[in-house]
Amino acid sequence: MTSLAGQIASAVAEITGGKAPLHAPVFAGNEMRYVQDTINSTFVSSVGEYVDRFEQDLAAFTGAGKAVAVVNGTAALHIALLLAGVARGDEVIVPALTFIATVNAVSYCGAVPHFADSEADFGCLCPQKLRLHLEKTCEIRDGTCINRETGRIIRAMLPMHVFGHPAPMDELMQLAEEYHLTVVEDAAESLGSWRNNRHTGTFGLAGTLSFNGNKTITTGGGGAILFNDEALARRAKHLTTTAKMPHAWDYCHDEIGYNYRLPNINAALGCAQLEQLPDMLRSKRGLHGRYKQAFTGIDGIDLMGEPKGCQSNFWLQTLVLDEGQEHQRDVILQTLNDAGLMSRPIWGLISDQKPYHEAPRAPLDVAHSLARRLINIPSSAYLGGN
Ligand SMILES: *Cc1c(COP(=O)(O)O)cnc(C)c1O
Repeated sequence: MTSLAGQIASAVAEITGGKAPLHAPVFAGNEMRYVQDTINSTFVSSVGEYVDRFEQDLAAFTGAGKAVAVVNGTAALHIALLLAGVARGDEVIVPALTFIATVNAVSYCGAVPHFADSEADFGCLCPQKLRLHLEKTCEIRDGTCINRETGRIIRAMLPMHVFGHPAPMDELMQLAEEYHLTVVEDAAESLGSWRNNRHTGTFGLAGTLSFNGNKTITTGGGGAILFNDEALARRAKHLTTTAKMPHAWDYCHDEIGYNYRLPNINAALGCAQLEQLPDMLRSKRGLHGRYKQAFTGIDGIDLMGEPKGCQSNFWLQTLVLDEGQEHQRDVILQTLNDAGLMSRPIWGLISDQKPYHEAPRAPLDVAHSLARRLINIPSSAYLGGN
């Protein structure tokens, strides 16, 4: 009888056909042409037509009113939170189960993260548990939500769509309304994911994307902020371009801005990548189907599917160990990685990271359990065939 780790490694190898990275980009379209074009024109940097085009293509793809391209997903979060009114001394509800950038962006605003738990199936912020926690710890005073234990205003909520699976936005938006919280969505992992035919990142005031090299599509480094409100998008553009007032030749900055704009050469790569996104999404869904078949009949694990009423982009494919199988996790990780099948546990909970030991938090039982039971396996689009 083969061990659980052995069975999993054979199933994964059957799909990958040999060594495979966790997630590699695919450049199969106009990437070289568009990048070459920026070099030929000399417009590789802060001015150029690819930035406008990339923003328009992103807005069209996601159905957001406007998209503003920026240097990376972390900068996108920083600006989105500032526009949500997050200020020094505020608190922001964040999931404990996320990449640290989500939480760091709160700190960049001088605000304090307030950690909340995950729902069991997909790991996103859990609206039911958050409601209980807010009922217990907060009160509404003059139209703001006050944390009674710290005396601080809880200004915003920052759900993240884990591994591309849409968070339960209807319930979260309802809760946010009741508690006067502004919603910013961290959609860094969920380009190409929809809930009830609405793209992730378009439910709240703003949603942020990342185009880092390991994400579904890449610009080398890059990010974007999605808005439904045009005036907010204009404000984001202003803040991310050093708050320079439009003028033919003079330099006048009307506030402290940021140098967060996406260079044209990166946007060129993004335009080419975006053209291939529908194909990539088909491949990634295909890969999910192949894994699902390969894992049928292996007891003790499950492959994370997609939430009801949603289309996930399947950015990363995730094995979920049954409760009671936690002790097998590291053996499975070792076996997979020894076989060249690059696999990773999820980030530990951010609430356990050194800078955030003292941050306020709800009970985090589910997030803790998931952190011990999830394994991401090779997920590149090219493994899905086409
Ligand atoms: C990748 C990622 C980010 C940050 O994106 P960068 O472009 O690397 O700054 C933020 N949040 C989550 C959840 C991510 O996965």
